[in-house]
Amino acid sequence: MSEPYGAVRRPLDRSARVLVAGSRGLVGSAVWRHLAREGFTDLLGPGSSEVDLRERGEVFDWFAEARPDVVVLAAARVGGIKANATRPADFISDNLRIQTNVLDAALEHGVERLLFLGSSCIYPKLADQPIKENALLTGPLEPTNDAYAIAKIAGIVQVQSVRRQHGLPWICAMPTNLYGPGDNFHPEHSHVLPSLLRRFDAARREGAPRVVNWGSGAPRREFLHVDDLARACLHLLEHYDADGPVNVGTGTDLTIREAAEQVAEVVGYRGTLEWDPTQPDGTPRKLLDISRISALGWQPRITLRDGLIETYAWYVDRLGSDGLRL
Ligand code: GDP
Repeated sequence: MSEPYGAVRRPLDRSARVLVAGSRGLVGSAVWRHLAREGFTDLLGPGSSEVDLRERGEVFDWFAEARPDVVVLAAARVGGIKANATRPADFISDNLRIQTNVLDAALEHGVERLLFLGSSCIYPKLADQPIKENALLTGPLEPTNDAYAIAKIAGIVQVQSVRRQHGLPWICAMPTNLYGPGDNFHPEHSHVLPSLLRRFDAARREGAPRVVNWGSGAPRREFLHVDDLARACLHLLEHYDADGPVNVGTGTDLTIREAAEQVAEVVGYRGTLEWDPTQPDGTPRKLLDISRISALGWQPRITLRDGLIETYAWYVDRLGSDGLRL
């Protein structure tokens, strides 16, 4: 049998100095927890008050001082469909600056191992499903998040260019829609699952007979728990070295309506779910083909139901069921 695409065995030294850029975010905090659990002893995750990754000088000064051996680039301005659609200028500018600064500083300081995180929205709006990695740049993007997607595509091409020009084994992972503890629960700007958890929780406590969700409920989405992504990040750093990005997902999707029904069940909300077709649906479907990462020996472990139960408990516990501090 031939080796899977990009397969290598290259364990990371647990005493390596690892920068988790974006360590306060949903993805970065999960990566941090996973690396700590796996025995890494020298993790660095400066917050935005310590270094604003959009500021080139600050990033270069930080690298000169800290000298990381490994970088996981999980820092980005992220948001749900409405945030992306209403603030595209912020999304493209912040993300281009964050990633260019970190990648350039990592190159200048000879960082040997680097993982750049993109997103499944880099693929064409009407890509064949499930979406294979080679669908990249084969068609027009979904307009509600094209600015974010173009920034992420630029990041992938920068990593590939560094590989080509400098021979460094840097890699890219493309996660599907993520959720989990540490997510943003803002009612307007968050992604669909935290929005629904918050809305249904409030509706249950208020005894509201109905809730209105965005769009038609018909689009299909794939949801991955962020702890599964964190395992995938380390797995790829230790088992993958090739030019192509690697999809990270569950390989299964469901309609937004079905997802909403699951959220209602987890929250214990028994009212009626209604849909507001004046709100954007976004891309009709974006299910990732995960055969590349599966061949490398990674599989998701957390079911959507278990993940929702855990995320809801985190929300109630950390943010208070009245949604304060959001
Ligand atoms: P997307 O995957 O980039 O489109 O990002 P989202 O997670 O924001 O949205 C996924 C889908 O859920 C879209 O079809 C939305 O219209 C739908 N949706 C339904 N209700 C909500 C809501 O309250 N918030 C968000 N963000 N999306 C919602």
